[in-house]
Amino acid sequence: KLENATIKAELGRASWKLFHTMMARFPEKPTEEDSLALKAYIQLFARLYPCGDCASHFRELLKKFPPQISSRNSAAGWACHVHNQVNERLKKPLFDCNNIGDFYDCGCGDEKKAAGK
Ligand code: FAD
Repeated sequence: KLENATIKAELGRASWKLFHTMMARFPEKPTEEDSLALKAYIQLFARLYPCGDCASHFRELLKKFPPQISSRNSAAGWACHVHNQVNERLKKPLFDCNNIGDFYDCGCGDEKKAAGK
């Protein structure tokens, strides 16, 4: 099948949205198990992302910038940074990672419950 840039971009937007929203909900003080789960998730995401070219570029980025999984802030900042690396390669505007704080809201309104606290 021919490449379809419109569909590929839509997959990208949906995926980044989930990716960053997941970081925004990652515990501020994760257990070791939380951190290992996030690391595994990121590695499997990079392995299984449906656009093969995108996934192999992303795996190279993970080697250069290993996932930061020690807290919500570090995970969200890391994800913003690697997304900016992709933006740069695709010649897109860079996102100001200082503004990541409230940008990704899952709308679930149950932060304490979800964290099991
Ligand atoms: P997107 O980059 O999809 O961003 C969506 C929204 O997220 C933006 O509008 C902005 O509000 C916000 N945002 C932007 N930058 C950041 C940031 N740094 N941190 C947090 N939020 C931000 N496409 C290709 O053509 N080739 C590739 O090799 C490729 N690799 C990809 C690899 C991965 C892992 C993913 C998830 C996607 C990849 N894509 C690739 C898709 C590409 O990154 C875009 O998603 C797609 O081109 C649509 O771009 P967009 O301009 O709508 O914004």
